[in-house]
Amino acid sequence: MSEQRTVYLDYSATTPTDPRVVEAMQPYFTEIFGNASSAHRFGREAERAIESARETVARLVNCEPTEVVFTSGGSESDNLAVRGVAWAQRQNRSATHMITTPIEHGAVGRTMTQLEEVMGFEKTLLPVDRHGMVKPGDFAEAITEQTGIASIIYANNEIGTVQPLSELGKVAQERGVLLHTDAVQAAGQLSLDVQELGVDLLSISGHKFYGPKGVGALYVRDGIELVSSQSGGSHERGRRAGTHNTPFIVGLARALELAYEEREERRRKLDTLREMVIDAMLRRIPQAELTGHPEQRLPSHTSFVLDGINSNTLLMHLDMKGIAASSASACKTGNPKPSDVLLALGYAPEQASGSLRLTLGHHTTEEDIAYAIDGIAESVEALYKLHKTLGV
Ligand SMILES: *Cc1c(COP(=O)(O)O)cnc(C)c1O
Repeated sequence: MSEQRTVYLDYSATTPTDPRVVEAMQPYFTEIFGNASSAHRFGREAERAIESARETVARLVNCEPTEVVFTSGGSESDNLAVRGVAWAQRQNRSATHMITTPIEHGAVGRTMTQLEEVMGFEKTLLPVDRHGMVKPGDFAEAITEQTGIASIIYANNEIGTVQPLSELGKVAQERGVLLHTDAVQAAGQLSLDVQELGVDLLSISGHKFYGPKGVGALYVRDGIELVSSQSGGSHERGRRAGTHNTPFIVGLARALELAYEEREERRRKLDTLREMVIDAMLRRIPQAELTGHPEQRLPSHTSFVLDGINSNTLLMHLDMKGIAASSASACKTGNPKPSDVLLALGYAPEQASGSLRLTLGHHTTEEDIAYAIDGIAESVEALYKLHKTLGV
C-alpha cells in the first residue's frame, strides 16, 4: 500500500516551529534556566536573553524596548490591551465607550462583549463592506468624547482582508483616541511599523509566524496606562505578572527576526501560490466564490464560500484524502454555525455555512496545491451530487 500524501493548508491556524527557532530556544530549557527576576548570575543570564529578545521585537515594530510586553499568546495580548485600556480609561476619565468591528477575533470581540455585558461599557460596531473593509470615515464618525479604546483587526483570520490601518491610525491620532490592532495574522507578512501605522497597541503571537505556541507580545505606546489583568509580581513593569518563559520569548523574537529577514522571498512565493489556488478553485468549482478582498489580502490566505455545502462534511472528506483545511464555522462537528464574520459581510446563512479556508506556508509546493485542488474538486462534486440525489 502506498503511503497517503498529506497536505497542510491551515497555516492561519498555526505554523510549525522553524528548526532554527527551536535551536535558539534549546539552551534556555536546560543550561540557562535561571529565573529572570533573580539577583544572581543565573537570573541575570536569563534576563539578558529576555532583554535581547525585547530589543529584537522593538526593532521590528519600530518602538522602544520598554514598550514591549511579553505575554502567553495572541489571546492574552488582545485581552490585556482591550480590557487594560478600557479599565484605565474608565478609572481616569470616566470614558466607557469602545469602538470595534464585527470581524474581530474572539479574543477582542468577546472581551468587548464581556466589558459590555458584565461591566457596563458601551460598544459601537463599525460597518464593513462585502470584502470586510472598514471605512476611515465611519471610524471618525463613531468617535465621541466618551471613547476610551478602539480595536480594529489588521488582517482578518477568516477572510484575509487587510485593513487600511495607517489611515485608520491617522484618524485615531487626530481625534486623540487610543487604537489597538490585532496583528496576529499580519505579523511576519505585513509591516509592523507602529509609527507608520499610527497604532497605540499591537498584538502578535509566536505560533502564527513559525515560532512556538503559548507566547505573544503586546506593543503598548509609552505613556499609555494599562490596568493589568494578571496581578502578582512586578514583571513586565507591572503590566503582566508571572515568571518569564525565557525559551519561548527567545523563540518568538528569533522567529519574528527570520520572518522579516526572509520576508520578500516568502512573500513572492506566497503571492504566486495564492493566485494559483484562487484561479484553480474558481475555474474548477463554478459554485465557489472568493470571500474577503481580492487584492488587499494576506499573501498566505485564500477563503471561499461554496453555496449549499456543509463545510464540516467537506472538511471530513478532505481529511480522509490527507488534506488539512479549515472553515470559518464555530463547531467542529455536526451542523456548522454560520460564521459571524461572513454574516457581517452580508452572506446568507446557507452560504456562510459552506466556507472553506486554504492558507499557505512557505513550505507549500505547487504539487501540494495541485493535489489539494483535485481532492477538493472531487469532494465538492460528490457532495453536490449527493445533495441532488437526496433533494436537499
Ligand atoms: C490565532 C489568533 C489569535 C489568538 O492567538 P493565540 O496565540 O492562539 O492565543 C488572535 N487573533 C487572531 C487574528 C488570530 O489569528
